[in-house]
Amino acid sequence: MNPSAAAPFLTRPHRGLILDRDGTLIHHVPYLHSPEKVILLPSVREALELAINHGVELYLHTNQSGVGRGMFSLEDAERCTLRMIELLELGPCPFRRICTAPESPEAPSIYRKPSPRFAQEIFAETGTSPSHFAYIGDRGSDIETARNAGTRGIGVATGLDDLRQELASLGFSGVYPVFDSLLDAVNHFLEVTQ
Ligand SMILES: [Mg+2]
Repeated sequence: MNPSAAAPFLTRPHRGLILDRDGTLIHHVPYLHSPEKVILLPSVREALELAINHGVELYLHTNQSGVGRGMFSLEDAERCTLRMIELLELGPCPFRRICTAPESPEAPSIYRKPSPRFAQEIFAETGTSPSHFAYIGDRGSDIETARNAGTRGIGVATGLDDLRQELASLGFSGVYPVFDSLLDAVNHFLEVTQ
């Protein structure tokens, strides 16, 4: 083997994306609990495939307060995630880990975003610097999670609310980029972490 040819692979840092689900990968249906209502957003499959082809590991982090509020079960939420994975057609599961946070906003938060706990566990487990990761999501809480975890935050304007306006009200204007598609967001991530 030619050592110089192998070197780039050996020295390439591990990279990972922690993705939100509703409004980021699939259409945001408030309190979604029916798998038949799962619809992928445009460019999502292409964006995730691009990330995978670049060796980026994918993680899923979704707040499901409907579980904590007693509106549906954790299994209902997970069935919707499984339907999304089926629609993605990227193998049995393109995500290395999935975190479904069931807490209602009033309950003590463990994994509920903006808790950085899930991200911190990933960083510890993979031994990777947070600078090689990013959160991608459609809400201020996704970006706040990124800030709390000391990693990058990348917004997508594909949710129900105006993310740019929400970030402005949080004082994040101009601090975190917002893209109109997941594909643009992933391309940005690949560019800034190469
Ligand atoms: Mg969302």
